[in-house]
Amino acid sequence: MSEYFRNIKTGAVTIVTGMGITLKHFFNALNRKGDAGVDDVDYFRQVDGLVTLQYPREVIPTPKNARYRLYNNIEDCIGCGQCERVCPISCIMIETIKVAPDDLAVCGKTSDGQQKKFWVPVFDIDIAKCMTCGMCTTVCPTECLVHTPVSDFSEFDRSNFLYHFGNLTHLEAEAKRRKLAVIQAKAQAEKERKAAEASQDVKKAGE
Ligand code: SF4
Ligand code: SF4
Repeated sequence: MSEYFRNIKTGAVTIVTGMGITLKHFFNALNRKGDAGVDDVDYFRQVDGLVTLQYPREVIPTPKNARYRLYNNIEDCIGCGQCERVCPISCIMIETIKVAPDDLAVCGKTSDGQQKKFWVPVFDIDIAKCMTCGMCTTVCPTECLVHTPVSDFSEFDRSNFLYHFGNLTHLEAEAKRRKLAVIQAKAQAEKERKAAEASQDVKKAGE
């Protein structure tokens, strides 16, 4: 008989203990871990609270120094190509065209007053490959290539991960290439003419 009541007591204690734990978590769930914000010094020390967020309606804010999706403010890009060279996985593709002397004013200056000497018709980043290592942003001399806090940018079509930042259309780029080719051809012809004259002068002096 005593064992019978002992079992009832054990069952009751178990239920009360279990309900206590359940209620503890229920009330803890009223405090949401995301409420404090990731900037809170205690954020990662919080052990209580509901940790599951109703994503994507709720998201944890990203830290200010987070390195996520790249963005190039092409207005400040001088087409130096350092970011392309330093990228360990070659996910930046750049094409530049030298600016013709009479186009320098049109091409303009960077926000810190540096004359831009190259058009950048192609500045593509394959963001699906980018591992956000930060090397490209570190070497960028004009600080136009930056990481943004945007971390959620899924796509159905992989081709949408190729981001284009170039500052010329295909037609504009073709026109600039042709213009530069004419200028370079003229400069080359002038150089050859001068070299021919110089060699004739040498010949005459030797006679
Ligand atoms: S962050 Fe790293 S991987 Fe991404 S483009 Fe820059 S250098 Fe390449
Ligand atoms: S390093 Fe900066 S300025 Fe140079 S090409 Fe890359 S983004 Fe442009």
